Amino acid sequence: RAKTISKGGVAFFNRQLGKKAMEKHVLEHELRDALDSHAFHCALQKKVDIRTGAIVGFEALLRWVDRHGAVRLPGTFLPLANELGLLNDISNLVVSDLARALPRLDEVFGTSVHYSVNVSPIQAVNMQFMQGLVRRLRDTGRAGSFMLELTEESLAATGPFQSQVLPLLRDAGLRLSIDDFGTGYSSLSTIADLTVDELKIDRSLISAIHTRPRNQSILRAIESLGMALGISVVAEGIETNEEKLYLMAQSELRIGQGYLFHKPQLLGDLLKEASPVTPDSSIIDGGSMPHE
Ligand code: C2E
Ligand code: MG
Ligand code: MG
Ligand code: MG
Repeated sequence: RAKTISKGGVAFFNRQLGKKAMEKHVLEHELRDALDSHAFHCALQKKVDIRTGAIVGFEALLRWVDRHGAVRLPGTFLPLANELGLLNDISNLVVSDLARALPRLDEVFGTSVHYSVNVSPIQAVNMQFMQGLVRRLRDTGRAGSFMLELTEESLAATGPFQSQVLPLLRDAGLRLSIDDFGTGYSSLSTIADLTVDELKIDRSLISAIHTRPRNQSILRAIESLGMALGISVVAEGIETNEEKLYLMAQSELRIGQGYLFHKPQLLGDLLKEASPVTPDSSIIDGGSMPHE
């Protein structure tokens, strides 16, 4: 009796579960395939002086260009990649991409811009991964041009992170940023102890800031904290002119990132666009360059 009653429900349940499991299975297969076929790439988003638009740096963001040429965002695959233990390999590819492109980026953007690399909380406490990351960045000979974006969760972690990872990063001369600041649970004393270089205010606090008095108060508080501790405060996710105008008029904040200024672009596309000069025309141009 009970069997017949529950039968339809079980079948429905199984169908739902089956669909989820199947999707996950397909994604797993695609992810492994993408890793083999080098389908993961580094995209860069400009970090600018919000008043002048001058580029002060770039954030490196992971992109997957799938078989159909569609760009897939980290949100759609990062959790599973992490679960499958593939995230570190993928991250290494992205950082290698960036390191390899550094000489070209230097030519186009100069050597004073910095490059920010995201590190997930699980990666941050993986000493082996972090050693590899530091080695890759050091090998560029320009460790000081890189900043790691860590979350409050990572930085609040005690144990190996505090005793081994942080000293490793400091010794290497890497700069540190607290990403998505204002959404996590770091205590103020942790921040004081950590001597990070940057607080990156989360997009949720910046969104429509000109219309949100409570977020404006939080922004002012974060700014005073940054000022008191000598930590630079930057904003992520600036999408509208109204947000920018508010920040310019009502805050001391100078550096920001967001679609209003620049949408993340694949490294290759960015370089192509920044210097569409063919080898031939550069010879001609070179010949007619005025002497200094
Ligand atoms: P995040 O580090 O906070 O990066 C900012 C995210 O906001 C990026 O999404 C960026 O494309 C997006 N964004 C930038 N400006 C705007 C804007 O004006 N409006 C809106 N709506 N969004 C904006 P993305 O590239 O999808 O990355 C999502 C998250 O995935 C990142 O958040 C970061 O936590 C993680 N991630 C990305 N690349 C890597 C990586 O190489 N390694 C690791 N471990 N995590 C990564
Ligand atoms: Mg980030
Ligand atoms: Mg962020
Ligand atoms: Mg964020």
